[in-house]
Amino acid sequence: MAQNNPTTTPSSTANSTNSFMAAALDEAYAGISAQEGGPFGSVVVKDGIIVGRGHNQVLHNQDPTCHGEMQAIRDACNNLGTHDLSGCELYTTAEPCPMCLGAIMWANIKAVYYGCTRFDSADIGFRDDAFYQQLEGETTVVNLSEFDREACLELFHVYEQSNASRY
Ligand SMILES: [Zn+2]
Repeated sequence: MAQNNPTTTPSSTANSTNSFMAAALDEAYAGISAQEGGPFGSVVVKDGIIVGRGHNQVLHNQDPTCHGEMQAIRDACNNLGTHDLSGCELYTTAEPCPMCLGAIMWANIKAVYYGCTRFDSADIGFRDDAFYQQLEGETTVVNLSEFDREACLELFHVYEQSNASRY
């Protein structure tokens, strides 16, 4: 089991931005000046060193999964040669959306430091909070239905016989 329990909170005050958050902000500003997507930048940090960077490139790549966190995770995995970012932390300019939070958990990142909240994102027109509301059972953004489970369970039984990694 991967362990990464941060013992210290990174230093930052109103007058002095933490250097990792400053790098995430630099990514975000680069993205908006190139008109590649929303004002979101992220860095992945391991042992005090930035190992991955990214900013929102949804518009540039015509790909709704290219959020800043996803791009930073992809960059870190590429740089480190692994899908497992155990021991890494993520600094991001805004609270991760449910997709990015899922990717963060799949990557085994155990600490995230974010600047703006999901409510700040809603204030400038982004839908993160509505997606969280579906997860909390408060609204329906997408219909989610169990369907043809028996046929799909056969697939699982085949996979269960193998020793493949659960990824
Ligand atoms: Zn996201």
